[in-house]
Amino acid sequence: MTFETYQELLNQINHHMDLYYNQDQTEISDYEYDQLMQQLKAAEAKHPDWVRPDSPSQKIGGTAKREAGVKVEHNVPMLSIEDVFDFQSVTDWVNKVQELHPDAIFSVEQKIDGLSMSLRYRGGRLELAETRGDGHVGEDVTQNARAIPQVLTELPITDPYLELRGEVYMTRDKFEAYNTRQEKEGKPLAANPRNLAAGTLRQLDPKITAERGLNLFLFNVQDGEPDFMRSQLYNLDRLSAMGLPVTYHKRAEDAGEVIAAIEEIGGLRGQLAYDIDGAVVKIDQIAYRKDFPAGTKYSAGHIAYKYPPEEKVVEMDRILVDVGRTGKLTFTGQFHDAKTGEPARLCGTSVSRATLHNQDYIRQMKIGIGGHYKLFKSGEIIPKLNGCVKEPEAVFEPPRLCPVCGEELEQEEGTADIRCVNPSCPAQLSRTIGYFAGRSCMDIAGLGQTLIDALCEEKIMGTRTSYLTSYVDIYRLKDHREELISRGILGKEKNTDKILAAIEASKSQSPARLLAGLGIRNVGLSTAAALMAVYPDLMGLMDVRSEELQKIPDIGERTAADIVHFFAHEDKRQMMADFKELGLTMKMPKEEKTRALAGLTIVVTGTLPNLGRSEAKDLIEKNGGKCTGSVSGKTDYLLAGEAAGSKLDKAKSLGIPVIDEEGLRALIEEK
Ligand SMILES: [Zn+2]
Repeated sequence: MTFETYQELLNQINHHMDLYYNQDQTEISDYEYDQLMQQLKAAEAKHPDWVRPDSPSQKIGGTAKREAGVKVEHNVPMLSIEDVFDFQSVTDWVNKVQELHPDAIFSVEQKIDGLSMSLRYRGGRLELAETRGDGHVGEDVTQNARAIPQVLTELPITDPYLELRGEVYMTRDKFEAYNTRQEKEGKPLAANPRNLAAGTLRQLDPKITAERGLNLFLFNVQDGEPDFMRSQLYNLDRLSAMGLPVTYHKRAEDAGEVIAAIEEIGGLRGQLAYDIDGAVVKIDQIAYRKDFPAGTKYSAGHIAYKYPPEEKVVEMDRILVDVGRTGKLTFTGQFHDAKTGEPARLCGTSVSRATLHNQDYIRQMKIGIGGHYKLFKSGEIIPKLNGCVKEPEAVFEPPRLCPVCGEELEQEEGTADIRCVNPSCPAQLSRTIGYFAGRSCMDIAGLGQTLIDALCEEKIMGTRTSYLTSYVDIYRLKDHREELISRGILGKEKNTDKILAAIEASKSQSPARLLAGLGIRNVGLSTAAALMAVYPDLMGLMDVRSEELQKIPDIGERTAADIVHFFAHEDKRQMMADFKELGLTMKMPKEEKTRALAGLTIVVTGTLPNLGRSEAKDLIEKNGGKCTGSVSGKTDYLLAGEAAGSKLDKAKSLGIPVIDEEGLRALIEEK
């Protein structure tokens, strides 16, 4: 993933979060949303330097935000547990503990994959239930907690204060039942039991919590009388004797017993009614824990062993062929667990589909109906096939005709991609329009994919001309205002007018966005901006020859050919004329046009006589140039001052012209 696609992904997620949290709307399913988040997290794991504190990955589940909830400051912080991934680390830790405290023993417990909740009892009566939130401030969920059968509102003790911590979870059966119901009602599905449990515990209406069905295991005494502050195993026994459900646990006296307990718990994983995501090892003697601190985020005297990714063997049932926005065919394998006949269970989620990438992948992996394949989750995120175990009778052959429009497909030269090149293919139309109207292009607020699908739909049904048969039609929707309102396609009058106003407002978007929205292959927003910097009039750009286009940085032969090819179509030229007629901005504003350094990439190094480093950068950018940090084949000039080091050497070795401050000023004046 490039930084640019990462940023597009960020924008997309922020947009959906805003819709969900602030406008109480959704354009995509929970599943699709989770997929986006997972892509984001995967990218951030690979490029930690990209992550900013305002990234959605840093907010989700991390902050105690929810307008509806009442916030509660925890008496005792609800910390996480530090993860370890191999037995050696567990053994080392246990040995270290016993070196200092030879009599230390351990409680090895299932780590339930749910969400944490604390219960405060005063005089044996339940006073407050709170979610974990960010570890220090959570949310009051007392009403909903009462709807969980295992939460006792009265304990058979009269201790002045007792605070317990446990894990709220949903069983797989209840999770599947929920999704089946949702599917029947055409509503979005929950991604996994943990997410659903979290959403259920935070419902505003406790009746819904009760209906869906949550469960609880207790695993810790947070605070209480001295008798409760000595031994973990004793506490669990006592809670159990009071009728409270406690987490499955084993007593272990040394490293060998700890490992054996972890293995036993791991072996039970598949057979439990709920999901676990590890085993927790705790020092039984609570007083000893403080000698093994683990930083401010983690509980002292605890470690969590994470089981390696599960692998399952699946049997291929179907291969689904879909047509993407650019006409590219995508293949998705649908399968079941070869052993159980059910969807495969992996890392707490049900998996019955995985992407098959392209034709090459399908051939290499020998994908076909009836074949058996290993399935695992990479980084516990995206399900992937991992080798063929039993070959199918026949390897899948991709279709020759587009599954949506029936037109002949084209195999793209030099790649494994197959495309539908029919520009009016309905599958692509709705999605191309969605992209055009989306965040990274015309950014028309409120006009999401679902509405666009609805506006395009009737064309697919073939009963009537649809409201949208091209991008231009978006700007003609206002002519159908009355009809749209009476049919409720964009909602009621208020929402319809809101969207129509957003459409009008989008006319003044930068022509670079308009250009990017056209869906010309390889022309995303940054390439479009580079093009517009040199050819500030979109109408003029239509007639630029391929050789000229290739002089622009980032534009190769192939992209140039795609651009020329696109504008060679008479209907595309008509579309551009229509845009102009409808009042869309076709020219870059004047100041942009006269930028002297447009299209030039300049690297600054050394100490300049008058300009500071950031002043030089500002000057370059103000004049339309691009400032980058390192010298490469794409660098046009190196601006070098006193004491220029390795960058100067590199520029020389690459034959890149070196200029000084005066040279830069001359460059700006000259043009
Ligand atoms: Zn098609």
